[in-house]
Amino acid sequence: MEMIYRSTRNANETASASEAILKGLAGEGGLFVPDEIPKMTGLTLDDLAGMNYQEVAYEVMKLMFTDFTEEELKYCINNAYDSKFDTELIAPIAKHSGTNYLELFHGKTIAFKDMALSILPYLLTVSAKKNGVKNEIVILTATSGDTGKAALAGFADVPGTRIAVFYPKNGVSPVQEKQMVTERGKNTFVAGITGNFDDAQTGVKKMFQDKELAAYLDEKGFQFSSANSINIGRLVPQMVYYIYAYTRLVKDGSIKSGDPINVVVPTGNFGNILAAYYASLMIIPVNKFICASNENKVLFDFFTTGKYDRMREFILTSSPSMDILISSNLERLIYRIAGNDAVKNAELMKSLNETGSYEITDDMKKNLEQFYGNYATEDEVAEEIRRVYSADNYIMDTHTAVASVVYGKYVAETGDTTPSVIASTASPYKFTRSVMTAIDESYSEKSDFELVDELEKLSGIKVPQAIEDIRSAEVLHKTVCDKEDMEKVVKNFLGV
Ligand SMILES: *Cc1c(COP(=O)(O)O)cnc(C)c1O
Repeated sequence: MEMIYRSTRNANETASASEAILKGLAGEGGLFVPDEIPKMTGLTLDDLAGMNYQEVAYEVMKLMFTDFTEEELKYCINNAYDSKFDTELIAPIAKHSGTNYLELFHGKTIAFKDMALSILPYLLTVSAKKNGVKNEIVILTATSGDTGKAALAGFADVPGTRIAVFYPKNGVSPVQEKQMVTERGKNTFVAGITGNFDDAQTGVKKMFQDKELAAYLDEKGFQFSSANSINIGRLVPQMVYYIYAYTRLVKDGSIKSGDPINVVVPTGNFGNILAAYYASLMIIPVNKFICASNENKVLFDFFTTGKYDRMREFILTSSPSMDILISSNLERLIYRIAGNDAVKNAELMKSLNETGSYEITDDMKKNLEQFYGNYATEDEVAEEIRRVYSADNYIMDTHTAVASVVYGKYVAETGDTTPSVIASTASPYKFTRSVMTAIDESYSEKSDFELVDELEKLSGIKVPQAIEDIRSAEVLHKTVCDKEDMEKVVKNFLGV
């Protein structure tokens, strides 16, 4: 049966999977969602436990991307999940401190964004072909630090595409920035903006919604698409690793097939945790979705009160990829808990846009019982990195540490001993300064690359290629623009 994707803000706007991937965003700022997440009925969890990552990926994607042929999907999957990853397992589980850290950072740019952005360019170019698109596709991307490089790596020199990335000039780690501004792909453009991630995301969404701009670009042979998790082509590949992780725990005997697990996710734009939720609707039994925030704790407040309120100070933390006050993908959950009601959802999103907040009804709140939210302070994050390192020499990055702290709070509060999977979203090498000074303050004297070498000594884990690549790389992208000027610089990049 062909899956229909529908806009969260207009029930009459529908798309096939490939059309939704091409468009990225629906009209009026809506997001594409499937009417229902299909259940995986032909296979058992034990069957999946016998498959490798690529095979699990195929089983998930064939249910979600129904207008792709088997050949097309396998082409995309096999080109994405190959030796770009430094382990054949693709997403290995590390067992530490009595729990499971699902390491999602073994791809090219050492953050979990690689899990989806390795495959998105293939999904997108196949979608373009299927739909007879003649225009060049321009990927517009707002990044809180990790999406940018992962998208650049995925789309660099892909024929028929160009990519523009906007990041908050003072809101990313030194390694994140260096990774982006040294990008060599000929079809790439990177700019820092004087603003935060929300400004970048809002600016990008505005360009998407501008019909005049779309018509003008169409005339010039261009059309926009998105590499952010607002694109369903990002979200679906992220469902795969939760199903994969569950079945690895079955395989290693940690759980029996059918046992529930908890999933703990360091959250920013709400894409990763939403993918876990979708995975549970498809097949894996999940007890709680534990949503971990840093000091930008909008989501914690939302899950405790039912009110989403972005009107607060934006805090720059040591987990910059989660420094977000407008979590775009929460909209997909809001739409669902409102009973797939586009009118109700559009009303709430309008309120968010105009007043900075909205409040859900009690009935909607009841549908959120599986979600638990909490947050970690900067001090707690540093202490957690130190604690786990001292306990068993495992060094985690700051984002993973946020999740680890929140998981500890959850267990202390509830006494729940359900086996849990913590999404480990970045390599510690990406946030070396924060990680090393958390372990020992005296490291703060050293330069960024000295710290890289110290981290190698402490962890015994070889410096990843992604870091070696930027040690001496030349800075090629120097644009810094005002958030109001994003459209101008995009036009400039396209030469129109
Ligand atoms: C993007 C990112 C997150 C947040 O993920 P969302 O899907 O935006 O919630 C967490 N950690 C790291 C390292 C990231 O790059």
